[in-house]
Amino acid sequence: MKAIRVHEFGGPEVMKLEEVPNPLPGPGQVVVRVRAAGVNPVEVYIRSGAYAAKPQLPYTPGGDAAGTVEAVGSGVTGLNPGDRVYTLATLSGAYAELALCDAGQVKPLPGNVSFAQGAGLAVPCGTAYRALFHRARIAPGETVLIHGASGGVGLAAVQLARAFGLTVIGTAGSERGRKLVAEQGAHHILDHGAPGYLDEIKSLTGGRGVNVILEMLSNVNLGKDLTLLAKGGRVVVIGCRGSVEINPRDAMARDASILGMVLFNATPQEMDSIHAGIGAALANGSLCPVVGREFPLKDAPKAHEAVMASGAYGKIVLVPSGGDA
Ligand code: NAP
Repeated sequence: MKAIRVHEFGGPEVMKLEEVPNPLPGPGQVVVRVRAAGVNPVEVYIRSGAYAAKPQLPYTPGGDAAGTVEAVGSGVTGLNPGDRVYTLATLSGAYAELALCDAGQVKPLPGNVSFAQGAGLAVPCGTAYRALFHRARIAPGETVLIHGASGGVGLAAVQLARAFGLTVIGTAGSERGRKLVAEQGAHHILDHGAPGYLDEIKSLTGGRGVNVILEMLSNVNLGKDLTLLAKGGRVVVIGCRGSVEINPRDAMARDASILGMVLFNATPQEMDSIHAGIGAALANGSLCPVVGREFPLKDAPKAHEAVMASGAYGKIVLVPSGGDA
């Protein structure tokens, strides 16, 4: 099969399309034929060598894939060749034509969800769900600021929070992104590149502030976020690319909480809960991943450049040749 291989950490060009042996499923394992693989910022951090947890070289990037079951190992029940599925993680990497997975990390992909959309379920939708429901413990009637709403995590959060009865304020840096955030259900849309844009939050909330903030770029925004919260407000730190100065008094004055999260800290039981919730939201249509761009597998370097560029517009996916995402 063809797979993207990384032999040394570095820029996007270290990702090469190579011929490698097909994976074979051992006991309890499944091989998935990948129709689409999700491209997430974390795969860029790992490839560059900047991420704390480094894979052993050489490796194939990616953990989010959607496709069909190609083969099952002994002892696997409930999964059969041909089944439409998405992966929560892979053993061999998702940027490939085939991906070896533990059977427990493979979930059924509903018929109303395309493979390309399915490649955006594990990390982006899983993160949005965990941030809203497990970390911030949102309640209907609250107001949430989704600070960075135009990307994979942000749009899923807009859809889920809107369906759950929150007032949703979403931000994006481009006109196109803001239009998309509005179409996906945000009640109010702001430009996080415009001077003084956060001043509008006060008037949008009648002076009270927001109950919850999902923060995609905390190294830029966390200090300001603390001043935007209502009493008892919560900021969930999802994205961070450096350090930031905060004034702890802003949190004290509001009985506010700063909640960090990394999706992979979720226990297996919490992951089951996340994906039960995602399954229900897909079934009733309240969650519908937005795919902004598809790249052929060989263009993984271009996809990594695109996912780090500003002007996010939904999910970026890789499609192996012959794939019909
Ligand atoms: P993405 O699709 O590339 O989206 C990035 C988002 O950040 C876009 O909405 C972008 O908006 C926004 N952004 C850019 N500048 C901003 C600013 N000054 N203030 C607020 N938002 C800004 O990435 P993603 O997959 O949604 O992930 C978002 C972040 O969360 C990344 O940093 C990623 O590493 C992190 N993440 C963390 C976890 C976890 O477990 N903690 C899981 C998944 C992702 P424009 O492009 O419109 O400006």
